[in-house]
Amino acid sequence: MWKAIRPIFNLGAVLVTTISFVSCQGNINTSAASLHPDTTEVDSIVGLSDIESKDTVKHQKGYLTKRWRTPVHIQLDTLNPISRDSLARYEKAERRRVRDSVRQELDKLPKHVYFTFDDGPLIGSSAIDSISKARNIKINAFLVGRHANMSKRLKRDLQRYKDNPLVECYNHSYTHGKNRFTMFYSNPVSAYEDFEKNELDLELKHKIARLPGRNIWIYDDVRRIDLKSGASTADMLYTNGYKIYGWDVEWRIYAASGKPIQSVNEIYTRIRNYMANKSSMEPNNVVLLMHDDMFQTKKGQQLLSSLIDTIQTTTDYKFEFIRDYPFRY
Ligand SMILES: [Zn+2]
Repeated sequence: MWKAIRPIFNLGAVLVTTISFVSCQGNINTSAASLHPDTTEVDSIVGLSDIESKDTVKHQKGYLTKRWRTPVHIQLDTLNPISRDSLARYEKAERRRVRDSVRQELDKLPKHVYFTFDDGPLIGSSAIDSISKARNIKINAFLVGRHANMSKRLKRDLQRYKDNPLVECYNHSYTHGKNRFTMFYSNPVSAYEDFEKNELDLELKHKIARLPGRNIWIYDDVRRIDLKSGASTADMLYTNGYKIYGWDVEWRIYAASGKPIQSVNEIYTRIRNYMANKSSMEPNNVVLLMHDDMFQTKKGQQLLSSLIDTIQTTTDYKFEFIRDYPFRY
């Protein structure tokens, strides 16, 4: 494709490559960077910013993530147009080429997996706590304060989470919106206050939240909303210092029977695919969502242990705290 088009460039068509960092509702901007630092023939056309040299750009933290997300847009000078078809074909080939080379570079770098457990403390939390210690892995608990006040046992399980240095506790609202999410989010102020109450009640140290029933992400330069209902509450939390995290992969088990909807192998394969295809929210970072009540049965606990064992024996993924999300390269 490149060979076919190159003569057109040589005839003097003026090519301007624009880079727009389109991700998460388009509110991300990036400084100019070459799309082709390793291809001299294209460098001469695209050019680099006057301010940034090729090397400094390449070694900036997050450079590969930016390159991964940045679509290739090529606009021709209207005075010397090539056909739209040729341009589209060239863009497609270029996009694939850039993505393949970035994927290869990212594959050589560390990969991070985040085990997140929602709705605790619940029956199941104490097993999760024990498994994290036994396997020596970091886990993340998005807690619901109302559950902690339902019984002495759950209060004790909450304390176990808090005393375990491998567990970090985050905010999942006090009432969980009473599981009536549209109603809950229809009043963003009271929903926000529900999170505030949870923070105070559970004495949470980190301003990190996940919204009940919503896969919403707002952190750093990212804002991704799955359902509009919930967006105002998330924005209020963010304005007040919170970061909001969703998930890439969800593992569901029928709570009553402890039987999985997806097998360990299916979840493991999904995590691996997200990591390999870079299809998670952040390349090389995969967030797995589970719920504490999945692990109230021996069967459920065995499945969780088995998933951890499989990851630990067959990959070099590091188990991480959401507080450190994302690792960008
Ligand atoms: Zn929840």
